[in-house]
Amino acid sequence: MNYYIKNATLVNEGQTFVASVFVSDGKIAKIVRKGEDGPSTGSGTFAPSTQVIDATGKYLIPGIIDEHVHFREPGLTHKADIYTESRAAVAGGVTSFMDMPNTMPQTTTQELLQQKFDLAAEKSLANYSFYLGATNDNLDEIVKTDPKQVCGIKLFMGSSTGNMLVDKNEVLVRLFRESPCLIAVHCEDEQTIHENTVRCKDLAAKGEVIVDASIHPFVRTTEACYKSSFKAVDMADHFGARLHVLHVSTLRELLLFKNNIPLKDKKITAETCPHYLWFDNHDYEAKSFAIKCNPAIKSHRDKEALLQALHNGLIDTIGTDHAPHLREEKFTGDYFTSKSGFPSVQHSLDIMANVLPNDLPLLVQLMCHNPAILYQIDRRGFIREGYYADLSLVDMNANQVISDKDEYSKCGWTPYDGLQTHSRVTHTFVNGNLVFENGVFHEEERGTRLCFNR
Ligand SMILES: [Zn+2]
Repeated sequence: MNYYIKNATLVNEGQTFVASVFVSDGKIAKIVRKGEDGPSTGSGTFAPSTQVIDATGKYLIPGIIDEHVHFREPGLTHKADIYTESRAAVAGGVTSFMDMPNTMPQTTTQELLQQKFDLAAEKSLANYSFYLGATNDNLDEIVKTDPKQVCGIKLFMGSSTGNMLVDKNEVLVRLFRESPCLIAVHCEDEQTIHENTVRCKDLAAKGEVIVDASIHPFVRTTEACYKSSFKAVDMADHFGARLHVLHVSTLRELLLFKNNIPLKDKKITAETCPHYLWFDNHDYEAKSFAIKCNPAIKSHRDKEALLQALHNGLIDTIGTDHAPHLREEKFTGDYFTSKSGFPSVQHSLDIMANVLPNDLPLLVQLMCHNPAILYQIDRRGFIREGYYADLSLVDMNANQVISDKDEYSKCGWTPYDGLQTHSRVTHTFVNGNLVFENGVFHEEERGTRLCFNR
């Protein structure tokens, strides 16, 4: 099927203009600005099978590339799986995702990595890539990674997620020296967190503090983040590694990054997530464990500084850290047992449109262009002739209220329940296939593996 997306307002590469886009054989065949002559449908250049979509009044953006998700498959599919979460993704205008290795088993060998690619080829509605997880003893596997076929290496630096905590210095040195591709890093100092947790439990036992969700930024502190981020940036600098610091949550960490180098030349880059820009510590009272995540959501000042960093280029990309858990895993226990993380892939566009009102060009830069540049993704992330037709059509005048009942993630709830938004994705194209249309999924086609020009 070919498509003629007529009279859309394109938001692309800093420009906003009315144009029509022809989609043919999975690619963006032609972009015709309003007033210019273009090929006509019907008996003209394009086949009669071309479907016309009237996009008058709607915004056409490149499909969002979410570089940071946890789709939980294999092994944790009671929470989520690649099929369900890729549906949530395309419903939110996300056309490509990169999934993290803390599944069961953890993705720490080339064989396990291939199994994930095979699963996605069978099940995913969106395009995909998968990170290989670093451990204290899998360097042999890491060096075998093909940088043209795999998005990166995930390093939990000082955060214990099973055996993926890399805490041996000689391993870190070799990893930073020898990794064949980008290292995406989770930075929180485990020892600091452990000490804070012990103190917190002690005070709670004596009845001296009430331990509820609001304690989280006092356990997973700014200090814990900074200590670990500083070390990662320092080592990457020293060994010339390509480092991407994930989910930056504090003002203090921003001091570690630069904004005087074009993104394509940066060796050290930074991501933040929609929730660090929307929530702050004042929201724990109303949202409680719904917004418990790692790193913790911190102060209003941190939030304001992160917002500023989107504008000044200290932060390069937005990834969601989509991390679904079942309601019972979040809400039935106490602070110490409530799981950290929540779903967000379906609403990243909505939240970022609220965070950056009237600034779709910056939103598109942070969520579409920059991930494509940073990961050197082949022919995606921009509306350009010859590129893959990964596109989202967005109505920015839709008054909608985000609701648990409309959540496509398998976990069936969202921390944004009840939030008023103005954006609604009406159409999502993946490789030129219309996979989501006004609340209806077309599931005949599957997404494809991302390739990288490295
Ligand atoms: Zn994560």
